Amino acid sequence: MKQISLLGASGSIGVQTLEVIKQHPDQFELVAFSVGSNVSAAVEIIKNFSPKAVSVKSKEDCDTLKRQFPASSIRFTYGEEGLVDIATHDEAEIVVNAVMGSVGLVPTLQAIECKKTIALANKETLVTAGHIVMAAAKRHGVSIIPVDSEHSAIYQCLQGEYEKNIQSLILTASGGSFRDKSRKELEGVTVADALNHPNWSMGAKITIDSATMMNKGLEVIEAHWLFDIPYEDIQVVLHRESVIHSMVEFHDTSVMAQLGTPDMKVPIQYALSYPDRFEHKSGKRLSLTDFGKLHFEKMDFERFRCLHYAYEAGKTGGTLPTVLNAANEMAVDAFLNGKIGFLTIEDLIEKAMQRHEVQLNPDLQTIKEIDLETREFVRSLTD
Ligand code: NDP
Ligand code: MG
Repeated sequence: MKQISLLGASGSIGVQTLEVIKQHPDQFELVAFSVGSNVSAAVEIIKNFSPKAVSVKSKEDCDTLKRQFPASSIRFTYGEEGLVDIATHDEAEIVVNAVMGSVGLVPTLQAIECKKTIALANKETLVTAGHIVMAAAKRHGVSIIPVDSEHSAIYQCLQGEYEKNIQSLILTASGGSFRDKSRKELEGVTVADALNHPNWSMGAKITIDSATMMNKGLEVIEAHWLFDIPYEDIQVVLHRESVIHSMVEFHDTSVMAQLGTPDMKVPIQYALSYPDRFEHKSGKRLSLTDFGKLHFEKMDFERFRCLHYAYEAGKTGGTLPTVLNAANEMAVDAFLNGKIGFLTIEDLIEKAMQRHEVQLNPDLQTIKEIDLETREFVRSLTD
């Protein structure tokens, strides 16, 4: 039985993680979880899973929960300290990090220090501070198992392989909601258009990231840190069917791919069951003949500028990926709140990156400061 702590239980990945846990009651048990502001989701999860610790974003919501479960022995906490409390819970063996944004960084680092295995969905953590997270994992002998479908695909392709034999990683991109629109057509798109992803059902922020192609850019940086591969050897191809989740090319020219239906429960469950595989109790099997054809196209870096910015940030390194990520989080939030147009997202990211003076090898404190400063800069342009 594996004891699981779940950060971001009310989100898209969080809810699917709970379904996986529920489908395998003899294998997995939820011991602790966090939500942000969704208190009613927290109430339901407490009733269904009887956890030992629960965290929410605000003190008020924490007090509400305490009043609602007065006789329980559940430890209720809140804020960033609450996230750390969940991430480091004594009984947890695996921490699933499914919060959105760089708020996931400190809890991840604390969980690593407590020697928890990390099932990582929260890609912003590795983008913001990949060198710190990976060094901490190495120091403490902790495994970081990817949940993101592309990285799970690569992780699966690499089982039993020697890292020295890798030639390149090939990430596939569906192209998001606007893959067939020209830049001119992007000028008037709405939030509702952008939230309508053709293949995957996901949280709002990552759905917008998919439409701008920033999601793939963040994934390139995530892949660089997870697999220790130089940016020159990480390619992206547009693959509209999302059947091949990603590939590894080896020195002998062999290419290994992992295929499946677009169902996040598969990589979530794999991260929890690893190195074993369990039956997928609600999964649809892949029928290649239903597809008939699979398509692959070159990425257009002018059309998808965010992908270009991400490579630039990754290759430059230092504090630039932190700026890229923070500017993107703020710009996407402003777009979702109707404050800016779709194409302004990439303009704001470009502006934030251009004005920044890169510091190499930043420590955690520097990263926190740059993250905050970038957020304030973008806010000053959108509010
Ligand atoms: P959602 O927006 O659906 O969920 C985010 C979760 O994080 C919610 O539980 C939310 O709480 C919580 N949260 C947000 N901000 C805070 C905060 N400041 N403090 C505490 N909790 C917070 O996101 P997704 O599930 O889509 O994505 C989560 C992560 O996984 C992202 O990093 C994303 O890039 C990555 N990912 C997602 C995939 C997907 O299919 N959805 C695929 C691959 C990766 P609440 O809602 O209660 O406020
Ligand atoms: Mg992905």
